Amino acid sequence: MIYIGCHLSVTNGYEAMGKTMLGFGGNTFAYFTRNPRGGKSKDIIPEDAAALNRLLKENRFGNTVAHGSYTMNLCASNETTRANGWEMLQKDIERMASFPDSYYNFHPGAHTGQGVEKGIELIADALNAVLTPETPNVILLETMAGKGSEVGGCFEELRAIIDRVTLSEKVGVCFDTCHTWDAGYDLVGNLDGVLQRFDDIIGLEKLYAVHFNDSKNPCGSHKDRHEKLGQGFIGMDAMKRIALHPALQNKPFILETPNDDAGYIKEIQIVNDWMKE
Ligand code: FE
Ligand code: FE
Ligand code: ZN
Repeated sequence: MIYIGCHLSVTNGYEAMGKTMLGFGGNTFAYFTRNPRGGKSKDIIPEDAAALNRLLKENRFGNTVAHGSYTMNLCASNETTRANGWEMLQKDIERMASFPDSYYNFHPGAHTGQGVEKGIELIADALNAVLTPETPNVILLETMAGKGSEVGGCFEELRAIIDRVTLSEKVGVCFDTCHTWDAGYDLVGNLDGVLQRFDDIIGLEKLYAVHFNDSKNPCGSHKDRHEKLGQGFIGMDAMKRIALHPALQNKPFILETPNDDAGYIKEIQIVNDWMKE
């Protein structure tokens, strides 16, 4: 089995997200640690955090997956942007200690002209600056579509970042199906081969979570436009094979598809039905 859920808003607090997901029929969820376009994060009230942690345990949820801000660019060439990114990472990871069973995933960054080597170095430096032996959460680098100067558009780049992190046992990967497909990995024609490649380069033990999205574009398009399950170029059959693949069992699968609540409930139901067949 896999754990299935979608992105939720933290507007009404943390425990409220757990209750919402129970109502949606899922057993994991993701949320932005702050406004996805940057800005402030929701204050964590200790009782609320404890109530969510209790709810997750009682209902046997999979690990939840917090998502860092899109504006956080740890390897920006602009020093102010980069410093802001490092500060966001520091604060987010401090706050995540209230939810030790949550992963924290973020987009590695865009090197904005400095070259991919420099980007890798800066991202790893940022992680080395904030991770301590006491950090309770596993931090996940997201696989990227490779648009513009994005770092992380191939497995080798993610491996190179992890290799430079001293506490690398605290760093893993969030496998976004839309991004990986758009990056040029053929999840439709060669799923086994792509996962074998991931295992060879990074190691499947580093794959902690999946962002479960169809794509509006063909393989290798480097676009990053998510589509509803079965309505994109990956298609329903391949999405199902991904969800049921032995190498991906027991992971949280997060829908980031363009849906309203009713759409998410429907997709969660589809995935739950696959597991019952
Ligand atoms: Fe993401
Ligand atoms: Fe994603
Ligand atoms: Zn995306």
